[in-house]
Amino acid sequence: MTELLQVDITGPNDQASEEMWHAVDADCVLAGLSTDRGGLSSDEAARRLATYGPNALPEASRRHPLLRFLAQFNNTLIYFLLAAAVAAAILGHRIDAAVIVAVVMINAIVGFIQEDKAEKALNAIRKMISPRAHAWRDGHRISIPAADLVPGDVVMIEAGDRVPADLRLTRARGLLIDEAMLTGESVASEKHDQPAAADAPLGDRLCMAFSGTLVSAGQGFGVVVATGERTEIGHISTLIEGVEQLTTPLLGQINRFGQRFTWVALSAAVAIFAFATLVRGYEWPDALIVVVAMAVGVVPEGLPAVITITLAIGVQRMAKRNAIIRSLPAVETLGATSVICSDKTGTLTRNEMTARRIVTAEHTVLVSGSGYIPQGELTVDGRKDAEADASAIRLIRAALLCNDAQLREVKGHYVVDGDPMEGALVALAIKAGLDPVRERSEWKRSDEIPFDAQHRFMATRHAAASGGQVIFVKGAPERLLAMCQTQLGRDGLQPLDTAFWTDRISLAAAEGERVLGVAVRSPARASDQLVFADLDEGLAFMGLVGFIDPPRAEVIQAIAECRSAGIVVKMITGDHTATADAIARQLKLTDSPDVVSGADLDRTPDAGFIGVVTQSDVFARTNPEHKLRIVRALQSTGAVVAMTGDGVNDAPALKQADVGIAMGHKGTETAKEASEVVLLDDNFVSIVAAVQEGRTVYDNIRKVIAWTIPTNGGEVLAVILAILFGFTLPMNPVQILWINLILTVTLGLVLAFEPPEPGVMKRPPRPAHAPLLSPFLVWRIVFVSVLFTAGALGIFFYALGKGLPLETARTMVVNAVVVFEIFYLFNVRYLHMSSFSFRGALGTPAVLLALIVVIAAQLAFTYAPVMHTLFETTPIGVSDGLVILGAGVVLMVVLELEKLLMRRIGALHSLDR
Ligand code: ATP
Repeated sequence: MTELLQVDITGPNDQASEEMWHAVDADCVLAGLSTDRGGLSSDEAARRLATYGPNALPEASRRHPLLRFLAQFNNTLIYFLLAAAVAAAILGHRIDAAVIVAVVMINAIVGFIQEDKAEKALNAIRKMISPRAHAWRDGHRISIPAADLVPGDVVMIEAGDRVPADLRLTRARGLLIDEAMLTGESVASEKHDQPAAADAPLGDRLCMAFSGTLVSAGQGFGVVVATGERTEIGHISTLIEGVEQLTTPLLGQINRFGQRFTWVALSAAVAIFAFATLVRGYEWPDALIVVVAMAVGVVPEGLPAVITITLAIGVQRMAKRNAIIRSLPAVETLGATSVICSDKTGTLTRNEMTARRIVTAEHTVLVSGSGYIPQGELTVDGRKDAEADASAIRLIRAALLCNDAQLREVKGHYVVDGDPMEGALVALAIKAGLDPVRERSEWKRSDEIPFDAQHRFMATRHAAASGGQVIFVKGAPERLLAMCQTQLGRDGLQPLDTAFWTDRISLAAAEGERVLGVAVRSPARASDQLVFADLDEGLAFMGLVGFIDPPRAEVIQAIAECRSAGIVVKMITGDHTATADAIARQLKLTDSPDVVSGADLDRTPDAGFIGVVTQSDVFARTNPEHKLRIVRALQSTGAVVAMTGDGVNDAPALKQADVGIAMGHKGTETAKEASEVVLLDDNFVSIVAAVQEGRTVYDNIRKVIAWTIPTNGGEVLAVILAILFGFTLPMNPVQILWINLILTVTLGLVLAFEPPEPGVMKRPPRPAHAPLLSPFLVWRIVFVSVLFTAGALGIFFYALGKGLPLETARTMVVNAVVVFEIFYLFNVRYLHMSSFSFRGALGTPAVLLALIVVIAAQLAFTYAPVMHTLFETTPIGVSDGLVILGAGVVLMVVLELEKLLMRRIGALHSLDR
């Protein structure tokens, strides 16, 4: 059989052989793939990777670029514009027709490039969180990108993982896998390592774990038998989910607004056209061109593209600050977050554990040393104590054996493969003089119950070095105390002194230590296996280990920032109440944190639940169900809740939260897939950074709108007034189109790149359902439109009054509108503070670049002879130029005064929601 398989794997597409893996014994499969339980060597893995290619499915191909470009024209307004261009051409207005076509083309090209860039950037960011797998290479368990797996690799899977490739299981412990995506079966199947019938359907191949399915519980080991397209999922579909649509509720709101606005503008255009021809006696072709130009001018057709870019820039900035956005709407929601519920371990603390104290029935032993460096001393009151050492070592050995972590030295640093607390126990064992490799081979493990946040302990069964069998258990100490009847003292078993241990736990926890209990028993039944019932009676408590896991220094500052930003931070942890309390104080979570335990929550009647949750700052000894109830309770008060999580059981709470945040390092695939955001560094600081960026994005979108609509509006209002009151048009149609052409594409876009305003984290969060067009924004739009109109008409009549020709007056008006728009841009860059500052005057590189482009274009417009023919412009004199600049300065001063007044009377916040 082995030989048969060996021959067969050389043909990667030979399905007959692949379908045999489930029907043969695990050792045969290992031999057939020329590997063993210790995995492949790195060299062999590299060779196989070159043969088989990466373990990935081909990506869904994107739409053809030409189609994506054509889609840019699929818009009511564009149809209208193109029809107008045709009409203009037929009527002999060739220049107008050409300019309209140029507007449409430039918009389409800019839209196409922007969307393409945004999509590429978002996809690149999403790749930063590509799944990883635990594999054995060169005898070590390491974490590698799942794409690097090759047939023959030995991997471990556990609750929350997505199976990284098709595996033949070599070992399974309580392993439940949800294979609904492959078999449609909604109940998770219980896996084992025994061969199945050769003709068993997929769902009955219980010794196989198929790529893409989800591990819902337990732990398993398996050898990779197929990767990439050769996996079962690869046979069914070779496409993974396509590119996500670039859309968010806000973008939807803006698109709907844009559509409505287009129709209003068109109806108004028809009315003005009728008025101009019937009442004012315009020739209808002239009137038509004017209203078309106005409609083009007033409709913010570039707005959705600029807003998409603003969102994409936000996503990129968040990625730079270690927060990866999995779904675009989260960018908006992050900005409105009012409560952050954070895990403690690893997010608020460093998750670098060091064992500091050991408590046995007779002694408290302190351990020196820092980090994972396995150097340090065990002392009692500063002295070595042989008897204390002996009892401590007994406990340490148990903790080393009931443990899956490995400690490795890499370039002088010690790194843990596996759980950090277990890594700390390995370092402790070495400090105590134990050799982990020897101990683990002398005390062979035959079975285990893996750690689970629900039952909060882990148990292992071993063949004792001296013969016989032993079970070790380590876990949350109160949980273990409840399971024990006796304790292990100097002279053997004693009755359990619960009060003594509870006191010692409180002492350690009050100093912020994470406390772990260890227990032992000899098994009651002769079997290699370990089940929950084996722990029922006869467990003896051995003692405690206290670990320090220092708070992340930078988190203290981030929490202070949240408090000033009106964001409530709540800590939800599986750890002990006193530990959580001590850490919350060290982090200055609040002045005096209110701590409540999961058990307290269970006792709270439904009626009082919301009150308790709102009041409490720290939730200790909670399980994942508590998280879900806490999120719901907070949401019912109108809060926008961001919630962190990592385990498989956290998925419901992460989904329920407005923003689910999974940990990139210690998070399971299930948690990541249930979340909108993944933190690359598991650090709370990155959440706060993402909130800040979220607020900035929202601000920038408002700035884009606050800039675009009134600048379009002001320009057009002046022309409408001319038609209504029957005076000469202050701009001709192509000039209106010119302003529209150069400004929307250049100036409006720079607001997407605005950095956060200085006070962005000093304001309270915006209410969740605040409309985008807040009263303040509406006021701003009307006020600025009126100012623009007054300014433009003022300049127009000033020029005519001076006896300048109409062409010069119009050239001055166009220049004035552009100057106003530039000044207004500087004003709008700071909605919450004065723009009269060094920072305000300096601008960003994007602002300066846009300024250069616009000024150069405007100089050409005014002074280049070809432009004179195209746009009927004339050069303007220096003094008239200065008048225009002066008008711009006046406009700026008025706008700044308005902002100051708004701030003074506190209207900004109240009108802003
Ligand atoms: P947080 O929710 O803040 O990340 P946590 O990591 O302390 O908190 P859990 O991982 O649920 O929460 O751990 C809860 C308790 O279970 C710990 O305080 C510890 O006593 C125990 N525990 C954690 N990991 C293990 C493990 N690998 N083996 C045995 N017991 C463990």
